Amino acid sequence: TTTVYYDEDADVSTLDDETVAVLGYGSQGHAHALNLHESGVDVVVGLREDSSSRAEAEDAGLRVEAPDVAAAEADRVVMLVPDTVQPYVYEAIEDGLDAGDTLQFAHGFNIHYGQIEPPEDVDVTMVAPKSPGHLVRRTYERGEGTPGLIAVYQDATGNAKEESLAYAKGIGCTRAGVIETSFQEEVETDLFGEQAVLCGGVTEMVKVGFETLVDAGYAPEMAYFECLNELKLIVDLMYEGGHMGMWNSVSDTAEYGGLTRGEEVIDREGMEKILEEVQNGEFAREWINENQANRPAYKQYRDAEQHHQIEEVGGRLRELFAWGEDADAQKEEAPAD
Ligand code: NDP
Ligand code: MG
Ligand code: MG
Repeated sequence: TTTVYYDEDADVSTLDDETVAVLGYGSQGHAHALNLHESGVDVVVGLREDSSSRAEAEDAGLRVEAPDVAAAEADRVVMLVPDTVQPYVYEAIEDGLDAGDTLQFAHGFNIHYGQIEPPEDVDVTMVAPKSPGHLVRRTYERGEGTPGLIAVYQDATGNAKEESLAYAKGIGCTRAGVIETSFQEEVETDLFGEQAVLCGGVTEMVKVGFETLVDAGYAPEMAYFECLNELKLIVDLMYEGGHMGMWNSVSDTAEYGGLTRGEEVIDREGMEKILEEVQNGEFAREWINENQANRPAYKQYRDAEQHHQIEEVGGRLRELFAWGEDADAQKEEAPAD
């Protein structure tokens, strides 16, 4: 059975004699920095000189320094710049990691795939809200929190787990519940989930469903409603009540048709191959090389996606129908990572 940690299992004052450097002030960075600050933790934000977020952080009452200055001063350095940028930022702050300091992440990619190799005398940990930063901030302000993960990769001080829980409490996660995992498990399940199910699987299923109807001569507008728009209603039912909650809410015809035909569209071996390439590092190597080459394939895929008929139809329909504005408001809350 999994242990879930709540507020009473953590003590923010564990971080009382620490300065925490939050590197980056984007989705996660702004939420961590502000929540910690309001929880009474000494925070310094690390941003490059020309950063577009510098003014925003300073206006919020936070101290801002260059990443290397912030890291040198801090006892805990939290990497909240984009994963593809982290290895470069790490080079700049590496010298600021003293024995007994902590290097902390919100996603394990760079540690698990060896893109960052910290010295042995620092703690290496993860505190990862299972939610986009805007919700981490908004729920905290309401006195609530978002669920989170903690993981310890390297425990040089012997305090790594206790301090991770204290940090999780400082950003509000223990209000909702925190579970412990490993860097390996977090990375592999995260990459598999976003590729096979959440981002890759779902968009491909919607796209091919849309194309199948349009190619057979049905109106693109009908195909859009059926294959994309209604997906949200179904996902909401699953989110609230699991599969049975959903099956109980749709018609018996939809339930029978779905139960007998769903399997037909899923390629189980394809999913296993995706997991294998995550586990053996093939995906990570491909993505690292892609970035070093300035993302040629990424740009091509993105361009094709942008010019797909479903985007044009959807753009038009979202303008015409009442849910458009609501959908925009929800976009920033959509779980991305
Ligand atoms: P963002 O893309 O929102 O980070 C943007 C911030 O990084 C900005 O402050 C930006 O500052 C700074 N930055 C970008 N490039 C550089 C650079 N070259 N040098 C210095 N600073 C730079 O990141 P996220 O918050 O999305 O992700 C941070 C971490 O959190 C990642 O490890 C991610 O996997 C993880 N995570 C993200 C979640 C999410 O929902 N977004 C959920 C859970 C984990 P500037 O103005 O200078 O560009
Ligand atoms: Mg230091
Ligand atoms: Mg992810």
